[in-house]
Amino acid sequence: MTTWTDRAADRPITLSAPSGIDRSAHHRLDEAWLAAAWSHPTTRVFVVSGGQALVDDTSDGRTELVMTPSFEAPHTENHRYFLGTDQEGVRYFALQKDSLPGRMDQSARPAGLREAGVLLSERDAGLLVHAVALENWQRLHRFCSRCGERTTIAAAGHIRRCPACGAEHYPRTDPAVIMLVTDERDRALLGRQVHWPEGRFSTLAGFVEPGESIEQAVVREVAEEAGVEVGEVEYVASQPWPFPSSLMLGFMARATSSHIQVDGEEIHEARWFSRDELRAAIESGEVLPPSGISIAARLIELWYGEPLPRG
Ligand SMILES: [Zn+2]
Repeated sequence: MTTWTDRAADRPITLSAPSGIDRSAHHRLDEAWLAAAWSHPTTRVFVVSGGQALVDDTSDGRTELVMTPSFEAPHTENHRYFLGTDQEGVRYFALQKDSLPGRMDQSARPAGLREAGVLLSERDAGLLVHAVALENWQRLHRFCSRCGERTTIAAAGHIRRCPACGAEHYPRTDPAVIMLVTDERDRALLGRQVHWPEGRFSTLAGFVEPGESIEQAVVREVAEEAGVEVGEVEYVASQPWPFPSSLMLGFMARATSSHIQVDGEEIHEARWFSRDELRAAIESGEVLPPSGISIAARLIELWYGEPLPRG
């Protein structure tokens, strides 16, 4: 039997695909090793600032992260994140700075994950998502959640330590479920969030609550947001979504009821679409589907059977 998971493997989501980087976590506490890795001539460094890094276009039409040897990198005391080692033994670091360095040439430009995620190679997208996730966590966790003291960075960006009470704090990831719900007529349920622009429709999604399984979260969120009952739930794929710290867990879910009753708080409107209805709505400009790197777009395409038309 072919499952949704098998079909998803045909075309990986860039941010979920193997990046070819070994995170080498066992080196993070080894200061001598880190110092040697940092100063090695093949090591590559990029600056991350406010969720952005510099990217540049190559002569053969690709887009890549702008990386330099460490001796050309800006000086920084603390915020040096070790990201890992590739198959050729090249080590990668990100430097968190208050601003990006001046552009080295005309075409280099700042870009965040939403833009660059679809353009970069799997290696570079993987490096950038790791760096952005660490930066977001560092920015929001400067103080000890146990005693309130200011914490210090450790483990090459992967731990914060409290000098007062000794607590160690690790990067957090918040699980969220995102699901494409289909009914017995194989129509897809898409919703429009209250704050989205007119016409934007996408999959339903929500955070997993304490003490809840991810399957339970799918059923609860669909019931809360759209009033639709869900039976069978199948996990498809996940995607890191560091805005600021989510992990999106993607599902296909089968509805056992079709009457829609939106909550009006998170979801303003929800509709069932057949494939023909969705194609016509996108082509007429009535519906703006999700695009780019989001797992929502991939879940909808998985059901639709091919890339969505452009409006
Ligand atoms: Zn503390």
